[in-house]
Amino acid sequence: MPIYKAPVEEVLFLLNDVFAIARYNNLPGFADVTPDVLEPILAEAAKLAEEVVQPLNLPGDREGCTRHADGSVTTPKGFKEAYKQYAAGGWMGISSPAEFGGQGLPGTMTTIINELMVSANMSFAMYPGLTQGAIAAILKHGTAEQKKAYLPKLVEGRWTGTMNLTEPHCGTDLGLLRTKAVKQGDGSYKINGTKIFISSGEHDLAENIIHLVLARVEGAPAGIRGTSLFIVPKMLPNADGSLGARNAVSCGSIEEKMGIHANSTCVMNYDGATGYLIGEENRGINAMFTMMNEARMGVGVQGLALGEVAYQNAAAYAKDRLQGRALTGAKFPDKPADPIVVHPDVRRMLMTMRAHNEAARALVIWTSLQDDVAHRSADAAERQAADDHMGLLTPVIKAVLTDQGFANAVMAQQIFGGHGYIAEHGMEQFVRDARIAMIYEGANGIQAMDLVGRKLAKDGGRALQAFFNEAQGYIKSHDNEAMKPFVAPLGGALAHLQQATMWLMQNALAKPDNAGAAANDYLNLFGLCALGYMWCRMAEAAQAKLAAGANERMKAKLITGRYFMERVLPETAAHLARIQSGAGSLMELPAEAF
Ligand SMILES: Cc1cc2nc3c(=O)[nH]c(=O)nc-3n(C[C@H](O)[C@H](O)[C@H](O)COP(=O)(O)OP(=O)(O)OC[C@H]3O[C@@H](n4cnc5c(N)ncnc54)[C@H](O)[C@@H]3O)c2cc1C
Repeated sequence: MPIYKAPVEEVLFLLNDVFAIARYNNLPGFADVTPDVLEPILAEAAKLAEEVVQPLNLPGDREGCTRHADGSVTTPKGFKEAYKQYAAGGWMGISSPAEFGGQGLPGTMTTIINELMVSANMSFAMYPGLTQGAIAAILKHGTAEQKKAYLPKLVEGRWTGTMNLTEPHCGTDLGLLRTKAVKQGDGSYKINGTKIFISSGEHDLAENIIHLVLARVEGAPAGIRGTSLFIVPKMLPNADGSLGARNAVSCGSIEEKMGIHANSTCVMNYDGATGYLIGEENRGINAMFTMMNEARMGVGVQGLALGEVAYQNAAAYAKDRLQGRALTGAKFPDKPADPIVVHPDVRRMLMTMRAHNEAARALVIWTSLQDDVAHRSADAAERQAADDHMGLLTPVIKAVLTDQGFANAVMAQQIFGGHGYIAEHGMEQFVRDARIAMIYEGANGIQAMDLVGRKLAKDGGRALQAFFNEAQGYIKSHDNEAMKPFVAPLGGALAHLQQATMWLMQNALAKPDNAGAAANDYLNLFGLCALGYMWCRMAEAAQAKLAAGANERMKAKLITGRYFMERVLPETAAHLARIQSGAGSLMELPAEAF
């Protein structure tokens, strides 16, 4: 059986030593996460993840979800009880406002806890994950009545949520969608259409499911600007909040798929279902983006979470599996062979996974703190700067962390050799589960286009400039012997990013294919710089802790950081070279040649 240990000490290091969470005490909710509260919350979440949720991961994958003749769906054995514990613990609404039954803690806490739950069991964690997206959309765009009717139940976990965008003929290009909404005399709408690939669309964990459905109001303009978002409850709530009639929405089938077998991916049929507009007509895209930005960060965290659990299993196996002898002579002469952790090629994979995971977690926490500032600060300038940061970093986190999460799962599987390919150890499940995160919530190629096509130039490049200013300012103010192995390589990587940005400015406006051809490399180049900057921040904090006393974890941290700087960050040069080669050979073949 695979193992999992929640990285609580890592999280505490990041919150306390790297990002000094106490500095944010002026924001609502932050004063409540004093160290004496933070540690027990994380310990509780770790216990739930390790002892309740994780043991269901492998059996849940084997059993999968079952759709019955009446359209109902049952989740694998144990899921219902585990979900009950999750909801009873208040985890769903840990960051939701107290007026709706939440605990009002920083959103950063939810992000951190979600990493733990996904590592333990990605399929399970998706049920609450989508609910949190629905809560965010209703909070931001719902009327006071809608908030009162839906939020307390969703926050309590008594009801769950979904996001219904995709249709058979449209995924990326949602402007093509056909699901129709017709306004009724009472202000509600009748919804007709079919949605596919809807995660957690039908299940037995909660008494009601609140679908957020993107549809086109009769007579609306074509394209994405003619779409509106609707709340479509599975069970229509009565005025007193109790459950009323069954709505005309049903699960037509569940998809047979590569991974996340214990999460029900449903075809959802809307046959004249009653829906309630959320936000304004034809402005569905706004509400949808609230949900999608939330979900994109969440999916980035899935990449990190699977990369972490895969690493933990590979590291344990590498210390246990005896094969061959170290190149420098037997390290364990009393054993028939050395453990494979002595081999440099196995180390390469372990160090690559570890160096990425530690920086990725820092990037997620840094950005989540900015998200909290964007939502909770009283200072408009501070809110804007934080919002800029979020806009710029969200596609990077979504794509870079999920690509690496999958790469980590494959490397971890490789460390198991043939035992990673067979099902027994659970490593092939990590590979299968990690794969979807690169595809949904906007395939990673779309994230790259979002970064290059929208985010770079937005507001005259203000967000990118702020990132450069911060990283370059950091390099200048940390130009000392101890920090040189970190800030010098970061300086080189940032120079590559600057050259790539200049090249795009000079070559992409007149030739948009140059932007499209560069997008994936630019996103990865940006991601490496962001992760490199995180390593600088962590190295500084680790050096300070070491100066205060011996600390094996901090010594290991600095070695891992050096590995990233020496062996991962140099990839920026290859990305730059590819960007500067332009769209030429990439676009030259006519479509018929493929
Ligand atoms: C298991 C699973 C769960 C899902 N959960 C949900 C859910 O809960 N709710 C929901 O609404 N949807 C969900 N989806 C759908 C998912 O979000 C879509 O599959 C995804 O957005 C891609 O859409 P598509 O499959 O139609 O691919 P397409 O849009 O057909 O894209 C195919 C390929 O072409 C590329 N491409 C397309 N257009 C462009 C362009 N302009 N520039 C560059 N490249 C482009 C894409 O990057 C992709 O690689 C889920 C899917 C799966 C498999």
